[in-house]
Amino acid sequence: MDLNKLTVLEAFEGLRDKKFSSEEITKSCLKQIDKFDAKVKAFITIDEKNALNQAKTVDKKIKSQESLSPLAGLPVAVKDLFCTKGLKSTGGSKILADYVPPFDATAVKKIKDQQGVIIGKTNLDEFAMGGSGEKSGFFPTHNPWDLERIPGGSSSGSAVATASDMCLYSLGTDTGGSIRQPASFTNTTGLKVSYGRVSRYGVMAMTSSLDTIGPITKNVEDAAFILGQLAGRDVRDSTTPDIKVDDYLKEIKKDIKGLKIGLPKEYFIEGLDEEVRRIVLIATKKFEELGVEVVDVSLPHTDLAVAAYYIICPSEVSSNLARYDGIRYGLSKRDGDDLLAIYLNTRSAGFGVEVKRRIMIGTYALSAGYYDAYYKKAMQVRTLVKDDFDKALGKVDIILTPVSPTPAWLIGENIGHPLKDYLADVFTIPASLAGICGLSVPAGFSQGLPVGLQLLGKRFDEKTILQAGYQYQQATDWHKRKSNLKT
Ligand code: GLN
Repeated sequence: MDLNKLTVLEAFEGLRDKKFSSEEITKSCLKQIDKFDAKVKAFITIDEKNALNQAKTVDKKIKSQESLSPLAGLPVAVKDLFCTKGLKSTGGSKILADYVPPFDATAVKKIKDQQGVIIGKTNLDEFAMGGSGEKSGFFPTHNPWDLERIPGGSSSGSAVATASDMCLYSLGTDTGGSIRQPASFTNTTGLKVSYGRVSRYGVMAMTSSLDTIGPITKNVEDAAFILGQLAGRDVRDSTTPDIKVDDYLKEIKKDIKGLKIGLPKEYFIEGLDEEVRRIVLIATKKFEELGVEVVDVSLPHTDLAVAAYYIICPSEVSSNLARYDGIRYGLSKRDGDDLLAIYLNTRSAGFGVEVKRRIMIGTYALSAGYYDAYYKKAMQVRTLVKDDFDKALGKVDIILTPVSPTPAWLIGENIGHPLKDYLADVFTIPASLAGICGLSVPAGFSQGLPVGLQLLGKRFDEKTILQAGYQYQQATDWHKRKSNLKT
C-alpha cells in the first residue's frame, strides 16, 4: 500500500499500532510530489528537510512508547496564505517575495504543537482573490483530472495536493468559496467553517469579515477529525467565540433519519449545467433513501449576493492590502526619489492585475460620496442574505445545493473576463455573507470531471453537515475515485 494514499484516520491508527513510521509516510508523500508536482504545480515551497526531521522525532516518541497527539507525524500541506515561522510565506504574491515570517498562524501552531509534519506551502490565487488558481503571482495550478483545466481556487494547491495524495490533508481558506469550490473540482472534501469557528490569526487577511480557515481532506471523517483539532477560542482572534467545540468524530456517526434538508429553488436556475443539476438531484434521492426528509425552501435574495460580495470584498481588500508598501515586508523598489515613489513602484511591480482591480474598486466604493451608494447598500444586502438563511435554517437542518454551476473550466478560458469568474461564485458566496458553515463532498462526474455537492448548516453547527456528509459517504463511493495522473 502506498502510504501517501492513506486517510488521516488510517494513518493515525497505523502509526499508533506501529504498522509503519511517520518517516515512511512522509517519504511516500515526498515521492509523490517528486513524481507529479511538475505536472500539477500544487506547491510553492516544499520543506523536505524539516518535514523529515519532524517525522523522525515523532518516530522516536513512538519507539519510546510515549503517547501521541492526534496530528503527530501526519503530513499536511498548508496554503501559502498562512504564516509559517522560518518558512517562506508568499500569499501567492510577488510583493511578499521571499518574506519569512517570525511567527506561526494559530492553525499552524496547533499542528506544530502536536508535532504534525508540514510538508510544504501550496499555490493559490494571489492573496486568495480568485476561484481558479490561475491568478497566482507565480504560476497556475493544474487540475489532476484534466491538466488543461483549472483546479478551482483560491485554495488551488491545497486541493490538488490532497486530491493527488501528496499529503494526507491540507489547509485552505474560504472567503467566498475558496475551499468548497476547489474541493468540488478535484473530488476532495472541503469544509468551510462558520465565521469564527477557527482562528484566523496569522493568516494573511483578504476580507477580514468573511475569511475562514478549514481543511481539505480525502473524506468527511478526516474533516471532522481535523476540525476537532483546529476549532476553538483564540485570544489572538477576537472573532473566535468561547463556545463548545463538539466531539465531531462521535457526532458524525449518528443516524441521519429524520433530519430535514431544504432545496432552495433559487439555486436550481437557468445557467446551471444540466449534468450538475442531475448529479445534485441524484444525491438528494440518496439522502431520501437514508431517511432524510427533503423539502423546498426559498432564499429570495440569492441573486443579489454576488454583487454585494464584490463590493464588500474589494472594500476590505483595499484596506487590508495597504500594509504591503515596500517598507514593512517583502519586495521594496527603492529606485525612486521619495517615499511615495517607493510605494508606487513597489505596489505596481508587486501586485497582479486582479489584486489591483480590487484595490481600485474598493477604494472607490469606500470614498466619500460613494460610500452610501455602494458599501452601505452592499452591507444592507448582506443582512438580507443572512436573514434569508436564518429563516430557512429555522425550518430545516441543512440546505443542499450545487457547489458551482459548472465543472472545472479550461485554463485561460475566463482570463480577461473577470465577471464570468465572479459569477461562478454564485452558490458559495451567499453562505459566506451569512457566516454559516458549508461542506463540499464529491457527488459524481460530468464527462470525467468531478462535481461536488454543497451542504450548508447553521452557524457553529458543523456537526450536522459533517454528519450528513459522513452518512452520504458511507452510502456512496464517489470520494474514493482518484484521477489517473501518469508520469
Ligand atoms: N472566488 C472568490 C473571490 O474571488 C472567493 C475567494 C475566496 O474564497 N478566497 O473572491
